[in-house]
Amino acid sequence: MCGIVGVSNHEEAAKIVFLSLYALQHRGEESCGILSFDGKKIHSQKARGLVADCFNENSVESLKGNFAIGHTRYSTTGSSNSKNIQPFLATHKNRPIAIAHNGNLTNTEDLYNELEEQGSIFQTTMDSEVIVHLLAKTKNGDIKAWIKNALMRLRGAFSLVFMMGNVLVGARDPFGFRPLCLGKKGDAYILVSETCALDLIGAQLVRELEPGEIVFISDGKVESVFLEKSKKKAHCIFENIYFARPDSHIFDDNIYLVRKRLGEQLAKEHPIDADFVMAIPDSGNYAAVGYAKESGLPLEIGMIRNHYIGRTFIQPSQFLREFRVRVKLNPIRDVLKGKRVVVVEDSIVRGTTSRSRVEEIRRAGAKEIHFRVTCPPITFPCFYGIDFPSKGELIASNKSVKEIADFIEVDSLQYLSLEGMLGIMKDSNAFCHACFDGVYPEQVPKNQSKYLLEKNC
Ligand code: AMP
Repeated sequence: MCGIVGVSNHEEAAKIVFLSLYALQHRGEESCGILSFDGKKIHSQKARGLVADCFNENSVESLKGNFAIGHTRYSTTGSSNSKNIQPFLATHKNRPIAIAHNGNLTNTEDLYNELEEQGSIFQTTMDSEVIVHLLAKTKNGDIKAWIKNALMRLRGAFSLVFMMGNVLVGARDPFGFRPLCLGKKGDAYILVSETCALDLIGAQLVRELEPGEIVFISDGKVESVFLEKSKKKAHCIFENIYFARPDSHIFDDNIYLVRKRLGEQLAKEHPIDADFVMAIPDSGNYAAVGYAKESGLPLEIGMIRNHYIGRTFIQPSQFLREFRVRVKLNPIRDVLKGKRVVVVEDSIVRGTTSRSRVEEIRRAGAKEIHFRVTCPPITFPCFYGIDFPSKGELIASNKSVKEIADFIEVDSLQYLSLEGMLGIMKDSNAFCHACFDGVYPEQVPKNQSKYLLEKNC
């Protein structure tokens, strides 16, 4: 989880990065940063917090140059150190190298040990810093071979944007775990995690980078080399289910339409007699549309989301202990009272939020609550960049569906099947679904407990 952006050859490069990060805010709320290059000097602004709070007109104006990259970071355990805010900047042979990374490497520990043996000193706990050290150790020469040889050493998930002087580089791991898209606006090329950022800045989508592809953008030209042609694509299916924005087109599909199809499939697999269908907003909205369409039941809005919640609201007192749950979503009593409702949610991770939402719906007067989830039970941790807790914290790895239903206190609970979920994708073989079945397409870290403490985004 993290959003990345790169802009080449635009006189307002930093402004474009700023706006793109705005569109990618959902990919990370902990911190953000922009680095620009004016032909001589790198300019930098990084801070903790939301994009809108970290930058203002003056700070964006101060980021001079026609080249810029940016990053918005997801909060994970052990990584909120301000040194870890990306983009990461290093200088090698008088050449600045700026890097923004989305995904998690799975051989970080091996590379750390090897590089430290050879004398590297690390400043951060970011796996992304390993990439810079690999670049420093790899034989220089042709930039394409140089970067390719360094990236060949990486395992796991990486979508990367580099700014190396006037050259903008984008790279995607051979499995294509995380998205990365190439866009164009006039003479400028833009790399972004998701197409919703291109829409905001009025750029056209050129294409998604291929898994294993590295693009080099300079002098208005885009040239590609391949780490390796992907043997098997393994796009993260959780981007489709929850993480990506519904107005984005990634992994060759529109996320809203994917979620709607998940809802339709869920209704086919798990129909139920009820008065209406409703979503847990916003995560269940799109699948609820599909569930209602397929089931023929009416779709109602049963909960209203407050869109004005910043991160820095007043800590509630004991008296207001349910404030956190209620401030975000409020059920509509007059809609719910005495009704049998199908409640659609994208996924259950720990089960605690679902339990609170159900309690609220029940308190608002619903007579029966039938909970429907648009993916199978999540039973395995993710090592490729989704911040899923360890097995012990994943409710479905410790409890049966019946026990989960009892825990969240619903009248019935049903999950979409793995086959049903994959069946609605355009290419059902192109996804990583290890969080559901433990079949990891790429090596997982040797020392998983250490890794779980230090993963970055
Ligand atoms: P819960 O009932 O506490 O498991 O919360 C479920 C909601 O949190 C669903 O909408 C999930 O999609 C959402 N969610 C998404 N990613 C995560 C995550 N990494 N950890 C916890 N909850 C997540």
